[in-house]
Amino acid sequence: MSELTVKPEVILHGISASPGIAYGPTFVYRKAELEVPEYLVTAERCEAEIERLNVALMQTRGQISRIRDQVEKNLGPEEARIFDAHLLVLEDQALISETEREIQTSGKNVEACFNLVSQRYIRAFAEIDDEYLRERAGDIRDVTSRVLHNLLGQTAENLNELLGRRIVVADDITPSDAATLDRSSAMGLVTESGSKTGHAVIVARSMKVPAVVGVREVMDQVENGEEVIVDGYDGVVIIRPSAQALFRYGQLRDEKQTFEKLLMNAVALPSITLDGCEVPLRANIEKEDEVDFVKEHAGAGVGLFRSEYLYLAAPRVPTEDEQYDAYRVVAEAFGAEPVVIRTLDLGGDKPMSGAPHLFPREDNPFLGFRAIRFCLEHLAIFKSQLRAILQASAHGNVHLMFPMISGRREMRKAREVLRECMDELRTEGVAFNPDMPVGSMIEIPSAALTADTLAEECDFFSIGTNDLIQYLIAIDRLNDRTAHLYEPSHPAVVRVLREVVEHAHAAGIKVSVCGEMAGDPVFVSLLLGLGVDELSMTPPLLPAAKYLIRSIKMEDAKDLARRAFELDSPSEIERLCIDFYRKHMLMD
Ligand code: PEP
Ligand code: MG
Repeated sequence: MSELTVKPEVILHGISASPGIAYGPTFVYRKAELEVPEYLVTAERCEAEIERLNVALMQTRGQISRIRDQVEKNLGPEEARIFDAHLLVLEDQALISETEREIQTSGKNVEACFNLVSQRYIRAFAEIDDEYLRERAGDIRDVTSRVLHNLLGQTAENLNELLGRRIVVADDITPSDAATLDRSSAMGLVTESGSKTGHAVIVARSMKVPAVVGVREVMDQVENGEEVIVDGYDGVVIIRPSAQALFRYGQLRDEKQTFEKLLMNAVALPSITLDGCEVPLRANIEKEDEVDFVKEHAGAGVGLFRSEYLYLAAPRVPTEDEQYDAYRVVAEAFGAEPVVIRTLDLGGDKPMSGAPHLFPREDNPFLGFRAIRFCLEHLAIFKSQLRAILQASAHGNVHLMFPMISGRREMRKAREVLRECMDELRTEGVAFNPDMPVGSMIEIPSAALTADTLAEECDFFSIGTNDLIQYLIAIDRLNDRTAHLYEPSHPAVVRVLREVVEHAHAAGIKVSVCGEMAGDPVFVSLLLGLGVDELSMTPPLLPAAKYLIRSIKMEDAKDLARRAFELDSPSEIERLCIDFYRKHMLMD
């Protein structure tokens, strides 16, 4: 047998998480904890160890400067500033000379000494009372880990500096990984864990990056740089594809592109059913720089601005002014169209990597210190965000909503803090809209079940089906093992949605759905039939939703909802919705 054995094609299946087909070389992202070796060196080697430190510092400086330039090009100067702070850590004479001293006194290798000194630094900063200085701990952790990688000769490629167009293959991608993902180079995403409604996947969808998640053992099957096909429509990953597979997928990609062009033709037309009911379609965004993307897909404003993405990968809590600038850009861009800014939903799977001291480890983070619970305890952070949103409300049709509200009492507390901020701004003579609509997300069953009393405190509801379904059927939205049980078509979901809509309408307020269910064309008609007034989704999904809305009658959608309500199994309800969808969406 020849020595050069060609590795065979491997086909793996997972969960289709973001549509599209990608083909290219992989970047296999391993986040293993660094193992730092510790050993004694001879007295003569001490100088050489110190020299190794200098080389690693220089190497790190080069890498960070490159990332800085790239981030400035892709995301702008504000985001790039983080890396200026990182460069300063490398200039810290105390850190360097303490490491040198440690090498000389302990006689140990440079990695062990540098690790010891930097851990001491991180701890000292994390314990400081001053919030700004405390947040420097995050910078030091990032930079020193990079120096250690270089000392150990490990790969320096990471998610925010991909070396060319790559398909990212990872065990897991956190939202803060996703926030720093090199958007110009990542052309596909494959992960071992995860599900359709994980936040990282939501980001992939908004970037139009094909993604397949829950692909068991993919990390063992593929090596860095090997070619793969990612089929985000059917949840298939083909490693080292054969010529036949490449041909087949090439054809499929062409067909899908033709179909997408057809959908894009509907983009400029009104979102109105055949029997004349208008359905506003708004966009879910994570950052202010998505405005043009929303406009390309004709989003009627923003139905969900996940404001926590301004925080996730930031080295420190953004200032009031930084936030105001971001919100104002979006408010101004949409003029009279609403821009619904959701206050911070940090915690759960979204801790802030630059401020780990604010997010102590929790056994059940999704049931823990998250969103409004976090904000009501960190009032300084909460108030600076509310003040920023209020100031942006003077520049457009800004709406504000609170996430993870469990019922009326919490809503009242949140509104009380908002009132305090309004009073402060009034005293300071700063402009804002005193009539800014304020709503609650409905994503906890207790809020849904008390929607009648909660509605009295709200100007609108926005249903977050991603969390509502997770809490209603007790299915972790991130767990690939139970992902098949995460069913938007569960009769409990249908009943709860109907009840929330009825209570809201009885109180004279509107209901939007902004969870991923709103952008799934299979469920769009069901939601409208249940009486939902507006839908908000990631921009690339808007054309299909509009096409569908223009092809159905509201009367038929209501009939669909009535029939779904009579059924008692998720699969029957799903089948009913799929049949309705196929009938109206060019399929039959
Ligand atoms: C939701 O839970 O449906 C929602 C829109 O919020 P997020 O996905 O950000 O938790
Ligand atoms: Mg949610």
